Amino acid sequence: MARVLVVEDDQFVRSALIRHLSDASHTVRSVGTALEALREVAHHCFDVVILDLGLPDLDGGEALKMLRGVTDVPVIVATARDDESEIVRLLNDGADDYLTKPFSVEHLSARMTAVLRRTRGSGEAPASRVLRVGGLAVDPLRRRAELDGTPLDLTRREFDLLAFLAGRPGVVVPRRELLAEVWQQSYGDDQTIDVHLSWLRRKLGETAANPRYLHTLRGVGVKLEPPR
Ligand code: CA
Repeated sequence: MARVLVVEDDQFVRSALIRHLSDASHTVRSVGTALEALREVAHHCFDVVILDLGLPDLDGGEALKMLRGVTDVPVIVATARDDESEIVRLLNDGADDYLTKPFSVEHLSARMTAVLRRTRGSGEAPASRVLRVGGLAVDPLRRRAELDGTPLDLTRREFDLLAFLAGRPGVVVPRRELLAEVWQQSYGDDQTIDVHLSWLRRKLGETAANPRYLHTLRGVGVKLEPPR
């Protein structure tokens, strides 16, 4: 059915949600903080996120904005506050729907079904999602990339590498993950990655010694982030 991320710090509510969603044959992952949620959406694909607004590390509104900065996965916020202005603000900040606690499983299922129906659409071509990191804009569907409004002329592999990293801004991606995801290889030598990285760097107008977007962490991996 759907891949669901449950973000909820209350163990009791969390286990109940996991149990009910799994019973309804959804695939569920769950975390208890906003920062873990950010890591999850950077590394895994979800159809919907259920976001509790009372998390220990970040205010719910902040958590939502940060999620929206890295993904446009549908988000249903679960709030104990039935304050109308708060809900309107969250919907404006990118929430797709909301639930006021306590809510029933049936209510949650109904909201999820509605959100999934809206986002999965009626089989039309998916709307192109442009990944933006600083002055970089990467459109994976149209396979176009621009830097500060100027189109980049990238090879297929350079584009794949850039698009993969742009989907996880600020996250250090291990080399073996790049090999697996971009090269579809389970092993290989680091030189393959280094060579492509250096070509990509040149096209982005930067060098390893003076990185702007592409940062190599020796022995660890690579990350793409906006210049400081
Ligand atoms: Ca909570």
